[in-house]
Amino acid sequence: MTSVDVAITTRPSATCDADLAKGPWEFDLSPGYGPGASEDDVIPDPVTRPGQLPTAYQRMSEDELHERIRNTKKALGDKLVILGHFYQRDEVVQYADFVGDSFQLANAALTKPDAETIVFCGVHFMAETADILARPEQRVILPNLAAGCSMADMADEDSVESAWEDLMELYGDEPDADGRQPVIPVTYMNSSAALKAFCGRHGGIVCTSSNASTVLEWAFERGQRVLFFPDQHLGRNTAKAMGIGLDQMPMWNPRKPLGGNTEEVLRDAKVLLWHGFCSVHKRFTVDQIEQARAEHPGVRVIVHPECPMPVVDAADESGSTDYIRKAIEGGRPGDVFAIGTEINMVNRLQAEHPEMTIFCLDPVICPCSTMYRIHPGYLAWTLDGLLEGEVRNQIVVADDVATDAKVALERMLAALPAGTK
Ligand code: SF4
Repeated sequence: MTSVDVAITTRPSATCDADLAKGPWEFDLSPGYGPGASEDDVIPDPVTRPGQLPTAYQRMSEDELHERIRNTKKALGDKLVILGHFYQRDEVVQYADFVGDSFQLANAALTKPDAETIVFCGVHFMAETADILARPEQRVILPNLAAGCSMADMADEDSVESAWEDLMELYGDEPDADGRQPVIPVTYMNSSAALKAFCGRHGGIVCTSSNASTVLEWAFERGQRVLFFPDQHLGRNTAKAMGIGLDQMPMWNPRKPLGGNTEEVLRDAKVLLWHGFCSVHKRFTVDQIEQARAEHPGVRVIVHPECPMPVVDAADESGSTDYIRKAIEGGRPGDVFAIGTEINMVNRLQAEHPEMTIFCLDPVICPCSTMYRIHPGYLAWTLDGLLEGEVRNQIVVADDVATDAKVALERMLAALPAGTK
């Protein structure tokens, strides 16, 4: 065993949430979304919640569940496509036809024209995006309807509409002498379909963590300032890298009048940052980076831009899940990577690249606790339903919402340089 192996295996392995140590069905019914969840997150009542896993499936052995999944997948053949997000647990990802980030996966499903059903093993907003982009005859299933995203829930439609009214009252709705609107709404992919539609209706656009700077440039060609939601960290990290001062990026707290700002601050603002964050990525710290460097001289530290700004500044690099994956694929035997993103993805990268050392910066095991709700039991139950002629836990975005959301998604695609779409 090398010194690197010793350091890794002796790292503490507690979990960030005691609920995660419970059985999957108990965890499934726990009321919150894990540490850092917004106060508004409410899991529906376990008795009345639609789509809850029947007791018979809760009692099945792991072997039986996996056998059912394998058999049903085989029986459905090309009529089914299963998508697995990078952060999904391995017991589920092993059945995925495609593994990727949310936008890659929604597009990947379109390459399977015979697939009548898209089963999205991710979280709610991802399944919504897949439904928006899917062909009309395709249907999208989210195996567990309780798999939400605490960050996406931090910006709800009413709060954003109310903020927009305040801003229109303050700025007016007339363009300046250069034809730029007072404010352009930009939503991160990690948001509800309703907010993507809001952006579509108000001259706004969607961004991913891969293209946020290109999208902000697009927005500044058309607007004097940007309202960026729901992730404050992606907004701040991206705008700072573009040379925008922190004093021109006030936070918009939807619980406070004018978002907690003065009119003067709002008039000087370039980017208004919504008060949202990812409970997984906000756990990474500068201390963890310093510890990784002390334990592994020469380590390459890469973090996701949903991490807080001091962490992104202290890292060697920052980039999306796809950036992180490609950086590791470009590594050499013996390289050591410390990664600031979700633990399932980091562990999978290490398993795929045993010739390198790849570890998560956070020594405490902290999966995305909502994605964790897609247990093999839910996958087996929803797939069995298809064989029995019953569509369980379908995600349907209303046509008018989907139409407006698609406008904002298409603006994003049009804004990207050729070859990156
Ligand atoms: S990792 Fe964070 S942003 Fe991504 S789905 Fe989980 S809670 Fe949402």
